[in-house]
Amino acid sequence: MEEPCVYYNTCPILTGKIQLEEKRLNDYKSRFCNAGKDSWSKCIRFQVREIVGRCPLDIMPDASMSPEEIIEKYDL
Ligand code: SF4
Repeated sequence: MEEPCVYYNTCPILTGKIQLEEKRLNDYKSRFCNAGKDSWSKCIRFQVREIVGRCPLDIMPDASMSPEEIIEKYDL
């Protein structure tokens, strides 16, 4: 089994802090969180957290904004 994302245990998407439909959550898990480092390192939430240590709750793994745009927009 692939190694899960390093933020797997604390990511608000997975801890229930962000309410998502189960289907959408499972899709994110299989595309990013549980899909190995090459995949979870492409998650926008992961990338923002790596840079500034946190990520706004409403940003999804496949957000269309770049990490830099998110950091600028949310003044992180
Ligand atoms: S949503 Fe992104 S940051 Fe959160 S656990 Fe999944 S891959 Fe990691």
